[in-house]
Amino acid sequence: MSVIDEIKQRLDIVDVVSDYITLQKSGRSFKALCPFHTEKTPSFFVFPERQSWHCFGSCGVGGDVFSFVIKKEGVEFGEALRILAQRAGVTLVSKQKEKREDKEAERLYQLNEATAQYYHKLLLDSKDAEIARSHLKKRGISQESTESFQLGFSPNSWDALYQHMLARGYKRDELVRAGLVMEKEDWGVRDLFRNRLMIPIRNEQGSIAGFGARALDDSTPKYLNSPQTAVFDKSGILYGIDRAKRAIREQGLAIIVEGYIDVIIAHQYGFSNVVASMGTSLTPKQVVLTKRLTTNISLALDADAAGDEATLRGLDVAREAFTEEKSPDWLGSTSKLVGNLKIIHLPRGKDPDEVIRESPENWRKLVDEALPVMDYFLEAVTLKLDLSKEGQRAAAAEQLLPRISEIADSVERELYLKRLANLVGVDERVLAGKAARRKPTQRERSKKAVSLPSAKVLGHPLEEYCLSLLFQHPELRDEGQKLSPDYFEGTENSELFLAWRASPDVESLRQNLDASLWEHLDSLVTRELPPATNKELETALADCTRRLRGQRLRMIKAMEEMLILEAASEGDKNVIKERVETILQKALEPSMQLRDLFEEEERARKGAKQ
Ligand SMILES: [Zn+2]
Repeated sequence: MSVIDEIKQRLDIVDVVSDYITLQKSGRSFKALCPFHTEKTPSFFVFPERQSWHCFGSCGVGGDVFSFVIKKEGVEFGEALRILAQRAGVTLVSKQKEKREDKEAERLYQLNEATAQYYHKLLLDSKDAEIARSHLKKRGISQESTESFQLGFSPNSWDALYQHMLARGYKRDELVRAGLVMEKEDWGVRDLFRNRLMIPIRNEQGSIAGFGARALDDSTPKYLNSPQTAVFDKSGILYGIDRAKRAIREQGLAIIVEGYIDVIIAHQYGFSNVVASMGTSLTPKQVVLTKRLTTNISLALDADAAGDEATLRGLDVAREAFTEEKSPDWLGSTSKLVGNLKIIHLPRGKDPDEVIRESPENWRKLVDEALPVMDYFLEAVTLKLDLSKEGQRAAAAEQLLPRISEIADSVERELYLKRLANLVGVDERVLAGKAARRKPTQRERSKKAVSLPSAKVLGHPLEEYCLSLLFQHPELRDEGQKLSPDYFEGTENSELFLAWRASPDVESLRQNLDASLWEHLDSLVTRELPPATNKELETALADCTRRLRGQRLRMIKAMEEMLILEAASEGDKNVIKERVETILQKALEPSMQLRDLFEEEERARKGAKQ
């Protein structure tokens, strides 16, 4: 999350504006005399749901919390950012500090790379590594895989790696920070990994972030990972993602298994969309990582773990990470389960690598037959409980109802309610009533508390798409001049647009921009857009411009309509009359513009058909 998003998420626009002027509650919004022009009746409104403000009086302007502070304090974006960051308790990281951290990370990657090379060479050449080589042979891992995954062997020594790295100019401190050696007062420095099969773990960009290590004797733990370091966070990495990402994108499916060896064997047999969850159940960070590539995830689960409380909880976490806040219009938001989370049933007692080696055909079949996660829940509960007993039927309903009532799609929800009704022998209407009356569980309540402020950071996807087009395609400059800074509600976006308009190219644009916006600029400049011809690009930008304009006009109209309704419900005839009159006068404007826009859209549609 960028600092700008973080600040927006932490602050409530109502609190911030209240620091400057006195707001008065008015239905779902707050009103005040406009601080930017002189007036007798309030026409300045703050909308908490949208986290925006708008003056319906003579200024006719609006925006988010940043633009309010910029205008009110008469400062530039950078200064507004500092003011709001301090208020939100968000630390602004200076560019120097960021550079220092980048340098530190770079050094750790380098160090890990050197370590991997050392262990790899030992595995290939050393006599002591015979035990590791025969283990690989037993697991069916080919020479080619051994080399391309850069597998290695850590010798049975207290300080072989330490001495090797010191001799190459690495320092004791940085080896400790990389988690490769441990430092204790009583015995000095020791290698962390001894007599183990070493598996370098690469991040999405392909840099080695840490290591997984399997014991080759009966030492415990059987699997040992690098500790958390500046570059290694187990919960945010998927093993194999660097080489799987392309296949995942192309096939529109990510298969997540548990073990490193599973991934290596899968890739060896040509199943290149397989990654591993690092031995834990799937974390939200891992789901986010995958979601950037595809919204279809299939999890391979051991039959022994079916119905396991821990497994089910893990699936709930994954399911939640799959749920996204969607904003259908400017009023409020709804959450919706996006994508497909499915479960691959493994035969009892078998890991994916065994299944694949025995019969790639069978693996393909298991993947095809993966069950939607809700079916899996149904099955798991049925498996665990004896549904011929009344009490256990009630327990089944209790476990499944909360999960079913969270399904956003009503048709799908009905379907599962029906199946649950059949399963527990209760009329589905009774269940539906129960689901509706059900008190939210603690988990759901805490989830709500978390998801409410996040509705604030839905962002402005259309604005950002539009800017990406402009930044990546200089040939669109003429068409882009048709946009107005007013179309951008996110101040970070309107700032970028203004800077773009004033600069001949993206490099000089950066020079004209507050440094706090560089990160946002970079994300838009490097964002992947589908390949398109010049003609298609022009159409895309024109569409985007029209939609932004329409969005703004519709929003203003909807706000005005809401204000009229609220005035009506307040019951003060004079207020209503006054407000309706001013609003009607102004409302004509967006209405006319909307009509123009509609005609323009019609023309564009017809043009596209010819
Ligand atoms: Zn005003």
